[in-house]
Formats: sequence, structure tokens, C-alpha cells
Amino acid sequence: MEFRDVSLTYPGPPPVTALHPCDLLVRRGEYVTVVGPSGSGKSTFLNIAGLLDRPTGGTYLLDGTDTGALGDSGRTALRGSRIGFVFQAFHLLPHRSALENVMLAMVYNRIARGERRPRAREALDRVGLGHRANALPTRLSGGERQRVAIARALVARPSLLLCDEPTGNLDSATAGSVLALLDELHADGITMVVITHDPAVAARGMRTVAIRDGVLSERAAVPDGA
Ligand code: ADP
Repeated sequence: MEFRDVSLTYPGPPPVTALHPCDLLVRRGEYVTVVGPSGSGKSTFLNIAGLLDRPTGGTYLLDGTDTGALGDSGRTALRGSRIGFVFQAFHLLPHRSALENVMLAMVYNRIARGERRPRAREALDRVGLGHRANALPTRLSGGERQRVAIARALVARPSLLLCDEPTGNLDSATAGSVLALLDELHADGITMVVITHDPAVAARGMRTVAIRDGVLSERAAVPDGA
């Protein structure tokens, strides 16, 4: 993903520049962490990177496609095929099994109906939860729920995984196993962008980008906790 002079100003009034013009290049197969205090612009960054919001300035290229040239349906298709999202809150439907939660992610992805179940099973196997496929989220631990959410993010076989505080709701032991899973996915070739407050999470990345007051900058050193 490549940002060229990308910025976002909310119109207001008063107008708020949540992201000042910035450049960022995340190469295929990189693992980049993004740190910054609350209100610094992390969600704004994520929403632009994830094609949920359009920047108000600059150019965003994803896999070489100028996303600004796409209409809404083109953006939705690109998002669905290239990007998986993992959030702090797992956002699972409580009355659907793990398998059904993962299958539902394919409804909007033009994946043939007959393929959805085997693909969901494969994704649950990939995150080590094949044996819990029929469990309801309420019967799963926090770490297992996040694994289901990761399986859901993987099921369309995205090239980029965007994670927003993926361990924010987990105790440290469970967080460690989820981070180990993210490392494995990265080793498998998925490009990772992980937003976090946690210096231990930030340190997993190959490099860290800091956002402060809407200004994005590369950080060379080991992060100190933003
Ligand atoms: P973070 O995710 O780091 O907490 P955000 O990206 O949510 O930060 O917000 C960055 C800045 O943009 C904050 O000052 C916030 O108040 C402002 N902001 C966020 N959303 C809107 C909006 N819809 N309209 C106006 N200002 C907004």
C-alpha cells in the first residue's frame, strides 16, 4: 500500500485535519506497526488504508491500483478481495457458530455458496480452531474469539491484514498466542499493518510508524510506548 501526500480533513465546522499530508510505502510481505496516543489519527489512517473512507487529499495506491479512481463498487470489490480486518472487539454474531460467523464473511465476496463451508473450515483450521467450529462465541474464550475473527478476516485470502488493537481485549498470555498467530500469517506472506498502543505489540513489526496530532512519521528506534 502506498500513500502519496494522503490527507484527511473532516469538514466540520470547524474543519479538523485528522491526517496531515503524508507518504507511506508498505511493501508486500512487510509487517508494519502503527502507534500513537488516543485522538492522534490512528482510526482515520486505518479507515483510509482499509478503503472505508476516502482521503480528502493525495493518492492511495493499493496493489498498484489508484483507489481514488475507483467508484464505490470498485472500492468495495478491492477491499473484499485484498483486505482482511481484525478489530479489538471481535464483532462476532453471538447466536451463530464460529463456522457460521466465518461463512457469513463470504456472503458479500462473490464466493460460491458451495465453497463457503469448506473455505470457512480451512480458515478455522488455519487459526487452530477447527475443533471448535460448531461452538457459539459465548462458549469460546477471548483468545478463541479473536482467532475466529482472524479466520473470518482470512477467508477471502487477502494480501493485507489490517489489525486495530488486536490484543486490546486479551490478557497477556492469550495476547501472546494471538501475536504468535499473526507472526505465522506474516511468515506465510500476508502483509501486516497493526495499530496498537502496546509497545510489546509494536515491537513485533519490522518497522513502526508513529502518528501524533495527525502527523505520520517513521520511527527507527524501538518504540517506547508512544
Ligand atoms: P485515534 O484513532 O488515534 O483515537 P481518530 O483518527 O479517531 O484518532 O481521530 C483523529 C482526530 O480526528 C481527533 O481529533 C478526532 O476528534 C477527529 N475526528 C475523528 N472523526 C471525526 C469526524 N467524523 N468529524 C470531525 N472530527 C473527527
